[in-house]
Amino acid sequence: MAQVAFIGLGNMGGPMAANLVKAGHRVSGFDLSGASLAAAAQAGINASATLAEAVTGAEVVITMLPKGEHVVAVWEGLASLVPTGTLLIDCSTVDVESARKAHSIALAAGCASLDAPVSGGTGGAAAGTLTFMAGGSTAAFDRAKPFLEAMGQKIVHCGADGAGQAAKICNNMILGISMIAVGEAFALGERLGLSHQALFDVASTSSGQCWSLTSYCPVPGPVPTSPANNDYKPGFAVALMLKDLKLSQEAAAASGASTPLGAAAATLYKAFDSAGNGGRDFSAIIEMLRGSP
Ligand code: NAD
Repeated sequence: MAQVAFIGLGNMGGPMAANLVKAGHRVSGFDLSGASLAAAAQAGINASATLAEAVTGAEVVITMLPKGEHVVAVWEGLASLVPTGTLLIDCSTVDVESARKAHSIALAAGCASLDAPVSGGTGGAAAGTLTFMAGGSTAAFDRAKPFLEAMGQKIVHCGADGAGQAAKICNNMILGISMIAVGEAFALGERLGLSHQALFDVASTSSGQCWSLTSYCPVPGPVPTSPANNDYKPGFAVALMLKDLKLSQEAAAASGASTPLGAAAATLYKAFDSAGNGGRDFSAIIEMLRGSP
């Protein structure tokens, strides 16, 4: 069992660090928020007062932070704190450029590094069933895998530095577009007098089948566990979907890729977010798609 440092103990990082404790690792944690630190201490994490204290003696350091700028700043701090050979893993969702910058900071400090964003949300983080999409060397991936397996169910090595973030933003662009497609279909079905259940029964077993329909149906009824049955409490918040769609649009612009539906999805989610819906589940966008009665 290893000494692990976990930086960023929020909605995702807290339960992920708790699963490392359950797997038998000694985990020290640091977060700028006192509330997050206190919750982590309840889960058996050694709550540290500083970044330096958290990483002392750690052979692996994991970060789970809001944005690329936070990851780069924390990894710059880590570079002067940890010994060469330490493995640094970032699980946050960030832009590909920041991910590659973090890898280069690690390389200059003589550390091994992996970008390993996740899919599966807070439920998956608590249950230890996340999917990890990893980018980095095979050696770094092989070293990180046992730790990722303590927090997730499926671990995919997507390629070189930044490939995990690339896979994450491509996947979430599909998700944003497909949720709008499903929402539009239900809104049209309503206008045509079609019941939600009838459309679900047909589309879920036909060529319209997709995760946004069968696991996360945006109308109440057909999928009892979907947030539509719980007043659209997240789940996966609109603000986070908008963040990921913006990342995909930045990546498309930087690489010259054409993503017209991704661009439209980003515009629609921006409008929905600006109307005060940032904290609601992203499937609630069906309300905007219905338009005026
Ligand atoms: P969160 O805001 O709940 O947690 C982030 C934590 O980082 C906070 O507790 C904050 O205090 C801490 N923090 C910020 N700067 C710090 C610093 N310099 N040092 C130490 N701690 C610092 O966010 P979250 O929902 O846990 O998301 C974390 C990352 O995971 C994001 O990149 C997000 O896009 C991604 N993600 C979230 C979900 C989800 O459903 N919540 C799903 C997949 C991926």
